[in-house]
Amino acid sequence: MILDILAIAAHRDDVEQTCGGTLLKMAERGYRTGILDLTRGEMGTRGSAEDREREAAEAARILKAAWRGALDIPDGRVENTWENKLKVARVLRELRPRVVILPYWKGRHPDHYTASTLGYEACFLAGLKKAVVSRQSSVVSEIGAPSIQQSACSGDAIASTGEDARLSTDINSADTLAPHRPFKIIYATLYYDVRPTFVVDITDQFEARFQSLMAYKTQFSDQEAGKDLFPAKREIRNRVEAMARFYGMLGGVEFAEPFLQKEVGLVDDLMMVPVKSI
Ligand SMILES: [Zn+2]
Repeated sequence: MILDILAIAAHRDDVEQTCGGTLLKMAERGYRTGILDLTRGEMGTRGSAEDREREAAEAARILKAAWRGALDIPDGRVENTWENKLKVARVLRELRPRVVILPYWKGRHPDHYTASTLGYEACFLAGLKKAVVSRQSSVVSEIGAPSIQQSACSGDAIASTGEDARLSTDINSADTLAPHRPFKIIYATLYYDVRPTFVVDITDQFEARFQSLMAYKTQFSDQEAGKDLFPAKREIRNRVEAMARFYGMLGGVEFAEPFLQKEVGLVDDLMMVPVKSI
C-alpha cells in the first residue's frame, strides 16, 4: 500500500506521545497514515513484547492509522548501522510516504536521538537509484486492513484491489524495490525542550490521542511493578495535558503538538499567515 504520512519512532508508544494527535487529524482528513516502530519493547519493565504488540494495535486503531509495523531492532540498542538503514529504507520504498515524521535529533534516551539520524539517513538511502534494497522484509509484526497488509508485506503476491496496489506492481520489480525519497521530513520535538518551528492544532483530537496512550495498559495503568519509574495515571493525564496546552498556547489554540522543520517556511499570501503577534 502507499501511505501519505509515515511516523517513525524508536518505541511503541512514542508516536502516541509525540505526534498521535497530528496523525489522527491527518487520517480524519482522508490521508493514509502509518507508524513504524523500530523496536518491539521487549526490554520494558512492565509487560512483554506480545503485550505491547496488542496494545500498539489498539492504539493504531484509535489513531485511525492505515498501517503499523515494528522492526526487529533490539529494544535499547537502536544503532545507526548499514543493516538498520536498509531495514528502514525497505519500509520507505514499500510504503512510499510523501511526509515522514521523525523524532527530534537530541534527547535523553539514546534510542530516540539515534532513531532520528537513522531515519533521516534511511530516507536518503531509500532515494538512491543505485542502492539495491531487497524485498526481504524485517517487519516482524504488522497491522493493517487484510488487503492492505498483503500488498505491504508480500513480495510476489501484491493485491490488485486498489490503484495503489497496482502502482506498487508497476514500480517495483519482483526482487527489488524502486527508489523513493519522501518530499518532506519533519521532527516531532515533544521529548526535548526546543522551540518548535510550527505546531499542529489537535484540540479536536486530544481526547482520542490520550486514549491511544492509555491503550498501553501494561505501561500506564496504576500498579505495583515499577511504581517508582512510572507515574500514576492521573499524573500522566496532567503532564500530557500541560504539554499540549503549552504548545497550544504558542499557536493560539487549546491543544497542539510541536514540530520542527530544517527548511524555512514559504509564504504565498501575507493575509493568510496564522498565529497572532500582538
Ligand atoms: Zn521511547
